[in-house]
Amino acid sequence: MRPFRSSAPLALVVLFASTPFIATQRALAQAPAATPASQTTAAKPKPEDTEIWSPEPKIVTPGATAGAPPSDAIVLFDGKNLDEWVMNRDKSPADWIVANGIVTVNKQGRGNIETKRTFKNYQLHVEWRIPENITGTSQARGNSGVFLASTGPGDDGYELQVLDSYNNKTYVNGQAGSIYKQSPPLVNPNRKPGEWQTYDVAWTAPTFNSDGSLKTPAYVTVFFNGVLVQNDFELKGQTLYIGTPFYKAYTSAPIKLQAHGDKSEPISFRNIWVRELP
Ligand code: MG
Repeated sequence: MRPFRSSAPLALVVLFASTPFIATQRALAQAPAATPASQTTAAKPKPEDTEIWSPEPKIVTPGATAGAPPSDAIVLFDGKNLDEWVMNRDKSPADWIVANGIVTVNKQGRGNIETKRTFKNYQLHVEWRIPENITGTSQARGNSGVFLASTGPGDDGYELQVLDSYNNKTYVNGQAGSIYKQSPPLVNPNRKPGEWQTYDVAWTAPTFNSDGSLKTPAYVTVFFNGVLVQNDFELKGQTLYIGTPFYKAYTSAPIKLQAHGDKSEPISFRNIWVRELP
């Protein structure tokens, strides 16, 4: 068991306790104590004792297809423009190339792009495609990345690796679906270059004490082409090219896409959406 990591459950308990229904239920549960029969036998548990009726989960209309954004999603890229994105280096307009409903990394451009919005915990959907004519080997073959929190310039943050790992040997904690240099994917469900692939991510952001020290670590679950590759993995800190991971305090952060410096053909993204979580 990992340590308690959120105040949400406590808040829910308080919420439930304050609802009229629970109050009524409690009164009913206490009522038999006044009757003679119940003084000799312990109150018999009832199915209703463990039923919760409110608050009811909010209604969300799912997307028409599995990858389409549900009704409560924030659409970050729908194929039309990069209005939700800026350059990581100076927050100027994003210079990646939008055409035919997809966005392609601009390797002659000004680097990584990130969302204008910032996020804490969320569910994220991203689709990406390695070009059919990809060349290169190991980390220099379709390298990009989805930084689940961009905590600074360049590659600062927490990277879910993007790479052509269809038939391309590299260090396993650096292949597609890895949390870079921290956690290899559980399996390799890569599609071949030229085909679209999906990441569906649940990100629990780290939290920090007022002095900047770590309060609770980050956790991530990733489905890659629908296959579980990261199962509630506890991150050791930011993902680093060199050195031992460490945490750096932040409250909310953009999501960032990587323009990697390798010479291979640029990869593309499409259909990016996020749902904020408590
Ligand atoms: Mg990368």
